[in-house]
Formats: sequence, C-alpha cells, structure tokens
Amino acid sequence: MSDSYDIVVIGAGPAGYHAAIRAAQLGMSVACIDKTTGADGKPSLGGTCLNVGCIPSKTLLDISHRYAATSDYEELGLKVSNVELNLAGVLARKDEVVGKLTGGVDMLFSGNGVTPYHGVGSLLPGSDVKVTKDDGTEEILSAKHVILATGSVPMQIGAAPVDDDRIVDSTGALSFEEVPNRLGIIGAGIIGLELGSVWSRFGSEVVVLEALEKFLPNADERIARDALRSFSKQGMDIRLGTRVLSSDNHGDGVTVTYLVNDEEKTLECDKLIVAVGRAPYSDQLLNDDSPVKLDERGFIFVNEQCETDASDVYAVGDAVRGPMLAHKGMEEGIMVAERIAGFKPAVNYDCIPSVIYTHPEIAWVGQTEQELRDTGANYKAGTFLFAANGRALAGSDAEGIVKVVSDAESDRILGVHIFGPQASELIAQAVIAMEFGATAEDLGLIMFAHPTLSEAVHEAALGVAGHAIHTVNRRKGK
Ligand code: FAD
Ligand code: AMP
Repeated sequence: MSDSYDIVVIGAGPAGYHAAIRAAQLGMSVACIDKTTGADGKPSLGGTCLNVGCIPSKTLLDISHRYAATSDYEELGLKVSNVELNLAGVLARKDEVVGKLTGGVDMLFSGNGVTPYHGVGSLLPGSDVKVTKDDGTEEILSAKHVILATGSVPMQIGAAPVDDDRIVDSTGALSFEEVPNRLGIIGAGIIGLELGSVWSRFGSEVVVLEALEKFLPNADERIARDALRSFSKQGMDIRLGTRVLSSDNHGDGVTVTYLVNDEEKTLECDKLIVAVGRAPYSDQLLNDDSPVKLDERGFIFVNEQCETDASDVYAVGDAVRGPMLAHKGMEEGIMVAERIAGFKPAVNYDCIPSVIYTHPEIAWVGQTEQELRDTGANYKAGTFLFAANGRALAGSDAEGIVKVVSDAESDRILGVHIFGPQASELIAQAVIAMEFGATAEDLGLIMFAHPTLSEAVHEAALGVAGHAIHTVNRRKGK
C-alpha cells in the first residue's frame, strides 16, 4: 500500500519547504520530495537558494567585500599588512555556511514532522505522486493535495553553451578554484553584477557584456545611473548594447564574439559566466495529458492564489509567474498551505522588495518614477543622500541615495528606492510602511534613532513635503 499524506510537496527550495513546514504546523501530514544531492553526495534540502543561489553568493559577496575593503584601511588611520586571499579557505567557508543551512532544513523537517523523500517527483493522474529514487526504484505516494515547487535553472543561450570548464553558469561561478585573471560575464542582471563584484574584488579583470542599451531597466533611473558609475569605478567594465553572438573555448581561454553598433568585436577571457536569466523547471514533473498547464514561457500556469488548472494541485515559487525571488516563493508557499487549511490569506504582489547585493546595495519596492510618468500618474518625490547622514559618514560608507515617491494627492507611498549601505535591510522599513498604507508624512512623523542609516529613509520621506532637515530642500514646504 502506498504511503498517504494530506499534502505532498515536490521541491524543497524556499517555496516548497515553507509550504511543507507551515502545513505541518497546521496539523496536516506532509511529505516533501527533492532530488538535490550536495557536494558530499548526500541529499541536500533548500533548493537553489541554499545550495547554489542566495546563500553561497552572499557568503562570497560578504567575504570578498571584507577582503577588498582592506585597501581603504589606510584612509581610516589603520595599517594592515599581509592580508592574503586563500581561495580554498573561502570556498570551504562558503560550503560550511551552505551545510549549516541545508542541514537546518533537515532539522526543521524532522522537528515539524515533515517526511522527506529523496528522488524525482512526478504528478500522476489525480493527485498521487511517484518518487523515482537515485537507484531507479519507484514509490507511489497518495496525496489529498499536491504543491509543485520545482523552481528554476540557469537559462542557456546558443551563443555560449556552458561546458563547466571555462564557460560556466552561476553555479560554476560559485566555485572557481583560482581567481580568473580575465573574467567575461554575459548579462548585467542581478546575478551577473553580484558574481562580477565577487571576482572583481578578488582580483579578476571583469568585463560584463549586456545586450540592452539601458542599465538595470527596472530600477529607479537615477539609481541605475549612479550605480553604473560606481561599479565602473570599482573596476567592472560594463559594456551596454553588446549582444553576444558566439563563444569559443580554445583550451587556453575563451574568445567571445559580440555585436556592438553593428560592428563585430571579440573579447578574450579565462572564464566566461553566462548569467542571462533563469528558466522555470518542470522536467519529468507532468504527464503529457496532465490537466496542469504551462504558459508559453514554460511557467506552470496558476491564478493569484497559486491554483493550477487541476483540482487540489497548486504551484509556487520560481516555477510560476512573478519575480524569481526566494521571498516571493516563501510567501506563496505559506499562502497555499494556509488556504488548504481553510484560511484565506493572499500575497501582495505589489509589495515585493527587490535587492541587488552589490556594494553599495540597491533595493527597491513599489513603483519607480519612470513607471509612474509612463502611466501619467501624479506623484511627488523626496530624496536624501547618504553623504549627509551622520552614521553613513561615521562608518566611512556614505555613497548613495534614498528616494521616496508618493501620490501627489493622498501622499500614500508608492515606491521607495535605495542605493546605499545596508539597502537590503533598510528596504524592509519601506515594505512595512507600504503594507500599512502609510503616507510619506507618516514616515516623516515617526521618530528614528540617531545616528542610524535609517534616518536617510526618514529624511527622504520628510523631503517629499520639503521638510528634510539635513539638506536644502528643492521643494519648499511649510
Ligand atoms: P528552487 O530553490 O529552485 O528549488 C526547487 C527544488 O526542487 C530544487 O531543489 C530542485 O532540485 C527540486 N526539484 C525540481 N524538480 C523536481 C522534481 N521533479 N522532483 C524532486 N525535486 C525537484 N533570490 C533572492 O530572493 N535573493 C537572493 O539574494 C538571490 N540570490 C541568488 C543568487 C544566485 C546565484 C541564484 C542562482 C539565485 C538567486 N536567487 C535569489 C533566486 C532564488 O534562489 C530563487 O528565487 C529561489 O531559490 C526559488 O525558490 P523555489 O523554491 O521556487 O525553487
Ligand atoms: P536577468 O534576467 O536579470 O538575470 O538578467 C540577464 C541579462 O542578460 C538581461 O539583462 C539580458 O538582456 C542579458 N542578455 C541575455 N542574452 C544576452 C546576450 N546574448 N548578450 C548579452 N546580454 C544578454
């Protein structure tokens, strides 16, 4: 007889493991199937995010930032000598952090009574699920509800097929055994910029080829401009309007051919990272005649509540529409578990923070000025520079700006955009304010501790009405 559960989740990334744990907390019997094997050959929960995404990349970003920052120590009156990079040690540290967190999901599963299965899950007609284990044996789980959380994989392009030797995707770029002298990156999106920052700080000469003419088209225009200048100064050579046509691993390096202003050019590099986006993943998941449908780009088709076209089958995370971000998948996973339990929560898709963990960091939530201009909306904006923020100056980390955008009539906050130190942490204040429907005036009336970076958010909110104190306001408010 097959094992039977209230819920079977396929995929133990952030979307799947949040769904599984929340469902178990609500008293349901839950199984979670995942096929990922870690570097040690053992099952490793946590999906892309914990194994080859958010966590290893942030570990390398933080270590490389500390390493590169030592070159500024003299300015602070500190003398350091003999700071040396031990890349094998850095990679071991990264693997240790990953191991702690993936092992943490194991512990959370056992503590909450979620049964893990290692193997490939496939949805059978109805809502039963087949697990195919690494040795080829199969097991059928019967389920009342199924949650598909199969995530995404790096997108491939014909112009640069990944060979895991010199041409790698984001996963390969987290484990270079030596620092490449010349590093090419295709794609100036979040992943390209983060990995470019890591290796540039460790000493690579980095060239980023980006097909679009516009840098970070979804970010605030002023912030995208400032960030491009800042990253270029840090040593990343970002070439916009350059479309990669082909690449050749000739053994001693890679020759990349690209088109710029209708002219063909080449780039020689030792390693090439292909960071052109991610594609939803659903291989081996569905039968040909499954009622679960994919959209034209391969995302599992769902409505706002993450219901698929099959009854009792839901899908969450990178495998479905919306931004491919861990926290978006987590909230969808929790929403679905709670809806199955009879509650009626919803995800607010208008309030999803985006973060780029460069230095300075870039973070935003809500609408940009250019989006509002395009829709003809009437808005006002306040800005504040970190150069005028005491804590940023005290921390010798005062590059960047906060911008608060609010509705011209109601003053309700429509968007907050930050380029600066700790932007990833500061943006949470904006998310909370927007979720509570705050106005810019509300944020301005609240007391913030001094001296903190958060005061820059406070002052930008005050600036909307021309009331910021530590700057001369362009808008003169009463
Ligand atoms: P995934 O994390 O992809 O997990 C899906 C899991 O399901 C995987 O373990 C997969 O092997 C398994 N699976 C798939 N099919 C089956 C099957 N049929 N049977 C069994 N198992 C299956 N996001 C952020 O929010 N912040 C960041 O800082 C960030 N940094 C990133 C850095 C990098 C380098 C990368 C690559 C991504 C980053 N992301 C970041 C994106 C983030 O990793 C994803 O948005 C997130 O992991 C998606 O979660 P998920 O649960 O939907 O899918
Ligand atoms: P993202 O989707 O944010 O991960 O970013 C990926 C980036 O890669 C996008 O900005 C694309 O424009 C860029 N890109 C995709 N294909 C190519 C290509 N052939 N040459 C250069 N850039 C590319």
